[in-house]
Amino acid sequence: MSKKNRFSAIIQKLKKLYGRPAPPAVTDPLEIILFENVAYLADDDKRAAAFAALKKKVGTKPQEILKAPLKQLEEITRMAGIVPELRAQRLRQIAELAHYIFKDDLGSELNKPLPQAKKSLKRFPSVGDPGAEKILMLTRSHLVLALESNGLRVLLRLGFADEQKSYSASYRLVQAALAGELPSDYDALIEAHQLLRQHGQELCKRTRPLCEGGCPLTADCAYFQKLAKPARV
Ligand code: SF4
Repeated sequence: MSKKNRFSAIIQKLKKLYGRPAPPAVTDPLEIILFENVAYLADDDKRAAAFAALKKKVGTKPQEILKAPLKQLEEITRMAGIVPELRAQRLRQIAELAHYIFKDDLGSELNKPLPQAKKSLKRFPSVGDPGAEKILMLTRSHLVLALESNGLRVLLRLGFADEQKSYSASYRLVQAALAGELPSDYDALIEAHQLLRQHGQELCKRTRPLCEGGCPLTADCAYFQKLAKPARV
């Protein structure tokens, strides 16, 4: 099986297991950055609730956030995770960058060539390569497959690359392995991102993957073949 067919077959199996994912709720570039920063180590529901509160009580335009008292931003960030004071300041910092540096127009940065677009986005707090790629994928600006930690773990276990000491080195190796093997439309890339994330959350868990709990990828998984299978005999 070619690599492209392999990746596509994996995603098809995950889609059969989990169904077609709902479209992403947040697709505006600045809102994606706010969504990531409004919570820390919080589950999806708490993050969504904090973001909804930000939208309702303050707004998500840079000037709306700049006008809001820091205390009000802290009340919102307190809904989802630790260090709420720091995250409230980050919301301010994001609004300042968007307003004063990018002149309330992040869209024109996204349309730049990929390296420049990523460089601009990485000026925002908590946005590294994976975060920048997620924004570029969800806004349909560049055909990239963004991977968060769950999706990366699944692809490493499947054998797309060997895990490295640093997260960023593992990320780069998996991306290199996928180069030229990915679907060339945004819907398929976004769906792959969502399905890999869901698989990492539900079955291919970080500390103890539930390989025999219904994972449809066992036959094609390096982790299962090399480690889990011998352990069972
Ligand atoms: S077989 Fe196990 S390690 Fe491999 S993808 Fe499935 S859950 Fe993850």
